[in-house]
Amino acid sequence: MSLIASNLQGVYRACAAAIAARSTRYSEPVNIVAVSKTKPADDIAAAFGAGQRVFGENYVQEGCEKIQTLRARGLSGIEWHLIGPLQTNKAKPTALNFDWVQSVDRLKIAEALSRHRIEAGLPRLNVLLQVNVSRELTKSGVSVDAVLAMADDISSLPGLQLRGLMSIVENTPDENELRTQFRTLRALFDTLAERMPSIDTLSMGMSGDFSIAIEEGATMVRIGSMIFGSRGAPASYG
Ligand SMILES: *Cc1c(COP(=O)(O)O)cnc(C)c1O
Repeated sequence: MSLIASNLQGVYRACAAAIAARSTRYSEPVNIVAVSKTKPADDIAAAFGAGQRVFGENYVQEGCEKIQTLRARGLSGIEWHLIGPLQTNKAKPTALNFDWVQSVDRLKIAEALSRHRIEAGLPRLNVLLQVNVSRELTKSGVSVDAVLAMADDISSLPGLQLRGLMSIVENTPDENELRTQFRTLRALFDTLAERMPSIDTLSMGMSGDFSIAIEEGATMVRIGSMIFGSRGAPASYG
């Protein structure tokens, strides 16, 4: 078995253990996004060979190149998520190549994505609203207070399907602080899901904290280094 395949098996096992350990309040399945940013298409093909079908990329151009490469190699059935910051001038290639965008935090971006999906005759693009729950100034995302109003605006766009929330919590060893941030997100997600039937996804938790995120109600985790190894070049959240 390749290293990536055995890493992936370890991640699946750890997720299953966290699901078994969580409160019975949470019954949704947990989806795993394999974050392949900075890693070559061959690594994605290895994870695909081991059964993984959902991948996340941070940079539009790098992601689009890998999407084309793997499509040309005949790998089909992959669900591609953009999880990194998005500029309006990259909205078109994003809307044409990705299946989900998790990093929507401005109405202007949402409107551009919606327009490009419709112009291309594509089905609605799945989007998550990125929330800045840690209130760190360096992080993108809308503030907790602004989420419900922005969700209302985004849900009216005809080319998008608002599926829920995404957040990058603080990078801290303080487990209580982590749990507090994850719980705030889950409460916000529950409020939103009560108002809108399309809401079914809460994307939170990365390699260092996904077990805690699952215990606190994540329905999607984004895991990079634990599957593909550490990233040599410093990435945004490396
Ligand atoms: C890089 C990245 C991840 C994965 O991080 P790891 O710590 O390598 O698991 C998850 N989410 C976002 C938004 C990222 O940029």
